[in-house]
Amino acid sequence: MNVKKIMVVGAGQMGSGIAQVCAQSGYSVILNDVKPEFVERGFRVINKNLSRQVEKGRMSNKQKEEMLGSIQVSTDLHDAKDADLVIEAAVENLEIKTKIFAQLDKIAQEHAILASNTSSLPITEIAAATKRPEKVIGMHFMNPVPVMKLVEIIRGLATADKVYQTIEDITKTLNKVPVEVNDFPGFVSNRVLMPMINEAIYTLYEGIATKEAIDEVMKLGMNHPMGPLALADFIGLDTCLYIMETLHVGFGDDKYRPCPLLRKYVKAGLLGKKTGRGFYVYE
Ligand code: NAD
Repeated sequence: MNVKKIMVVGAGQMGSGIAQVCAQSGYSVILNDVKPEFVERGFRVINKNLSRQVEKGRMSNKQKEEMLGSIQVSTDLHDAKDADLVIEAAVENLEIKTKIFAQLDKIAQEHAILASNTSSLPITEIAAATKRPEKVIGMHFMNPVPVMKLVEIIRGLATADKVYQTIEDITKTLNKVPVEVNDFPGFVSNRVLMPMINEAIYTLYEGIATKEAIDEVMKLGMNHPMGPLALADFIGLDTCLYIMETLHVGFGDDKYRPCPLLRKYVKAGLLGKKTGRGFYVYE
């Protein structure tokens, strides 16, 4: 299938990154969010990232302007009528995502593929909210999108082989590496990563070490580029909690219970880097 126009729903840290790499690869992009200020914030982030590329001599100012010119901002989901592919990157909440997919199904052209950037939620259940489950798929980018190479591609129960192939091909055009994964809670990435982060939060909660010490152990001892608590702040503590809840409910196994300290931070609105404070404080 010939995909030319990609709509990205949700202009937060992931959505803006996805829109940027799509524009950089020559696609025409629609960046959508619920409020103008949210889309503008996403667009500003893209502008800043591309300006940095110009400063480093990796692209010309003309190329930057062309890329920015290929991104249309939107607060109306009906703009999906023009898209060949929609990549949803709204908050990690099944109710919100199924609602968006049910609407997109009514708006998008018959040939359009609907993908979700969910970190952990069941693609099969998201697909069931539509009348085109064979054209629904998971496309899980990593954070920060412009830098990280991996895209986990998740097949729902009904995802057609042709649709999988199209998404794998598009992922390669974005200069990313696709890895095929089946539809189970947390897929591979967050099935392995998030319990480690949750355990690090437990070690803080139980007073086993300070946050700095926990992060230092994992950085120096395990060669992780970031400590797990700094990484949780970077991902967003709300997203971490949603993922742990998905694993907990999805497998019905208490080994995935979210740490009470994680719940407390989220209830307090301390969501990490994006709100200026999580386990650490950010300028
Ligand atoms: P974020 O909080 O930065 O952004 C979410 C955006 O979605 C917000 O701008 C919000 O206004 C918007 N939104 C909410 N409801 C919407 C709706 N109905 N229509 C359109 N936009 C809507 O979150 P994020 O970190 O960008 O995460 C987005 C998705 O990407 C989640 O599913 C998350 O699990 C996934 N993800 C996150 C990471 C990470 O490290 N943060 C990594 C991979 C995948």
